[in-house]
Amino acid sequence: MFQKVRVRFAPSPTGPLHIGGVRTALYNYLFAKKHGGDFILRIEDTDSQRFAPGSEEYIIEAFAWLGLKFDEGTHIGGAYAPYRQSDRKEIYRKYVDILLEKGMAYIAFDTPEELEAKRAVTANFQYDASTRGDMRNSLTLSKEEVKALIDAGKRYVVRFRIETNQDVSVNDLLRGEVKYNSSVLDDKVLFKSADNLPTYHLANIVDDHLMAITHVIRGEEWLPSAPLHVLLYKAFGWEDTMPQFAHLPLLLKPEGNGKLSKRDGDRLGFPVFPLEWKDPKTGEIFSGYRESDYLPEAVINFLALLGWNPGNDQEIMSMDELIQLFSLEKCSKSGAKFDYEKGKWFNHQYIQSKPNVEIAGMYRPILAEKGVDADMAYVETVAGLVKERVNFVKELWDQSFFFFVAPVSYDEKAVKKRWKEDSPAQMTELIDILRGINGFSAHNQEETARAWIENKGYHPGNVMNAFRLAIVGESKGPHIFDITAAIGKDETINRLQRAIRKIKIS
Ligand code: GLU
Repeated sequence: MFQKVRVRFAPSPTGPLHIGGVRTALYNYLFAKKHGGDFILRIEDTDSQRFAPGSEEYIIEAFAWLGLKFDEGTHIGGAYAPYRQSDRKEIYRKYVDILLEKGMAYIAFDTPEELEAKRAVTANFQYDASTRGDMRNSLTLSKEEVKALIDAGKRYVVRFRIETNQDVSVNDLLRGEVKYNSSVLDDKVLFKSADNLPTYHLANIVDDHLMAITHVIRGEEWLPSAPLHVLLYKAFGWEDTMPQFAHLPLLLKPEGNGKLSKRDGDRLGFPVFPLEWKDPKTGEIFSGYRESDYLPEAVINFLALLGWNPGNDQEIMSMDELIQLFSLEKCSKSGAKFDYEKGKWFNHQYIQSKPNVEIAGMYRPILAEKGVDADMAYVETVAGLVKERVNFVKELWDQSFFFFVAPVSYDEKAVKKRWKEDSPAQMTELIDILRGINGFSAHNQEETARAWIENKGYHPGNVMNAFRLAIVGESKGPHIFDITAAIGKDETINRLQRAIRKIKIS
């Protein structure tokens, strides 16, 4: 039977979305789109303790920026709405009751203090088949006692009753069959009367089932929960529609061992979040890829290759190509080092491939901030001349300010090295040479200047270095005649005259 692929990205709104979570969402998206399936956003907000206001909006904004479109979700609705777990409370209670009726779950009244006391006397205490008989729960208390406690408003949780010594296997699309013995699992809490909410485990399974999810693609940190999830599917009798699992390897620190953390970003100076985030409690700001001037396409391409490759060494891929080429089989099983320098490289590549007019559009607000009001065609020309020198749009100014403003001072070191005793006389001659050119193209200037230098027997390097210093104020920039062609004859001559007047050799 053909079954439409349906995957979900199911973040908990506990703060900004870590870049590893973005990669998980991307792989879900690529997989869904490759198979003509649906990509769903489900907000798993059953843990009210860890809720951070603004996270859901942040997540939605981040994906809008990245160009990952959901087919269903909290913000757009869909046939399986609602998609926010706190709006689905009634649904979960029903499934908790089903397990209670089947005897596959039980009610436990142990207070946090009682559990703490147990832990204090028994090392590695686990609430399971070996200990549940000594605890205060519906297996050890009479029906009447249980009812009386509930009626008296005593807090309780519902725990999953896990039988010992059962083989549980998780079929993971990346790892194959991973086998567990149920004895290692504890009787996980599925529901808490305190807030009338299910825990992650129950809500996650019930929703995956009800939302007809076919594949659960998520981070490796959830692999230890997978055997419990498999047992829950079995307890409900949903084995036949159990989704396929794929647990993605971790993103690792750029250097050394271990998982990429927020602190690595702070320490090494790169963002680990898609968008900037301001902690609502502390006011602390965490930097984002968007605010750090990354192009969303570059971030997507960069993340796609952290844990997957198309089977050859192709690196630059558009979203459409990624969708076409993506497959879970080609995902790596081992962690991917987070090489943020490569992220910059991707941004550089994407800047090169963008039409100059688009780069110019992104550059304009920066120019406006600098008080420059240049026409679009001119900005486009400049963008084309200097974009190969930058990794980020924000670096354009430093590489091209001299196209817009004449130097007001001259770099001291460059003057020492580049402005020779005969430079003023040569530059004075050059003014005349340039003045005589018809059609001030880079090509015309270059030809004429070269003939003059040769004719006079000047040292070409010396002449050109002094010329650049006069035009730019420093020893940098693209081909000098491209600059002068852009700024025009009058401006070129003005700058030469000013340099002759102003540069003093000590
Ligand atoms: N709510 C979980 C999270 O925050 C979802 C894990 C899963 O995809 O099952 O990542």
